[in-house]
Formats: sequence, structure tokens, C-alpha cells
Amino acid sequence: MSNPWTLPTPPGKEFKKQSFKELSKISSFVYQVGEYPALREKSCLVTPSDITSPQFQAKLTYLRGCLKKYKTMTGKGRGIAAVQVGIPEQLLIFSRRSKLIVMINPKIVKEAKEKYSYPEVCMSANNLIAPVIRSAWVEIEYRDEKGKEKIWDVKATTKQGLLENRIVQHEIDHLNGIINIDRVDARELTFVSDYTFYANARFKKIK
Ligand SMILES: [Zn+2]
Repeated sequence: MSNPWTLPTPPGKEFKKQSFKELSKISSFVYQVGEYPALREKSCLVTPSDITSPQFQAKLTYLRGCLKKYKTMTGKGRGIAAVQVGIPEQLLIFSRRSKLIVMINPKIVKEAKEKYSYPEVCMSANNLIAPVIRSAWVEIEYRDEKGKEKIWDVKATTKQGLLENRIVQHEIDHLNGIINIDRVDARELTFVSDYTFYANARFKKIK
């Protein structure tokens, strides 16, 4: 007699085992949604003359260490906002071509009309994928780690450029209390359940 019913099995058993193990480690220093009210609030502006102070530099060193730790643990993680590790100040960092860019008090002053959707994950909203629509590029005024006024105007002509402009918009959102999952309809959220997710992620142009 054939089996009248097949047992339902959710996918990605091994992947989930691994990623939940990672989550238990990263959530020891990265706040998750619902754990920290500041994640949903605007972070404080940094007084420019404080940037070179030992206190502020110590926070920056800590933030750098957190991103490095996250990368070592998971093999991913391109950027992080200070509020995610309990520092509710207008500070973010992200890697670009093996360099680390530090943005303090970043302000988007111009953005592309062209929009793209791309599946994003956030280390504060594990392990959800949110297909967020963002501008192809943005122009940003900010201060660097020495307090110097700088401008970000990397135009997105390649996938790499689109990615960099997206990461920076994602991190600036954090400084305004917005998490990637807030930008989509809850029904669009999916769970990351396999290792091929990053390799298969594609930009979709919005008409
Ligand atoms: Zn995030």
C-alpha cells in the first residue's frame, strides 16, 4: 500500500542549524529588533569637535571591532550602524574595496530617480530577507573619522556601485530609526534558508 500522505519538511535544515548558531553568537553584541528602543529612533548628531576626542574614537574602535567580529563569525557583513551595537549616535561604517569608510552625521542631499529592488538582510533582523526598493545612487554630505567634511558621490554604473549605494542607504536608515523590514509589506518578507542566497541576489529595476 502506498503512503497516502508525505510528511512536510521545511527546507534548509543544515543551513538553519548553522545560521541559528551564528545568530546566538552575533546577538551577544548586535541588538535585534524589539530588544533596544533606540533601533527605532533617530540617533543623536555628533558634535564635530568631539570626533577626535578619545571617547568618540573609542566608540569608533569598538564599532570597527564589531564589524570585524561579525565578518569572522559569518563570512558576511558589509556595513554597520553604531546604534546596532548600542551607540545611538550618527555614526556608520562600511567596507568598500578593502577600505573602511566612516561616516559621521551623514545627510543625503541628492538621490537618483532610478530605483531598484534588491533582497536585503540586516544583522538586527535575522534571518529575514526584505526586497527593499532604493535609489540607484545617493549623494551624501558627512564627516570622516578625523572630523573632515566629505562628500559621497559614487554613481552606480555597475552592480558593485549599486551595492555600495544601497549599503550606505541601509545604514543611514538605521541612524533614522528605520530597519530594512520596515520598508516592505510584511507579506514580502522571506526567511533565508540556503547558502546560495547571496550568490543569487539580483537587482530588479523598478519602472
Ligand atoms: Zn541593518
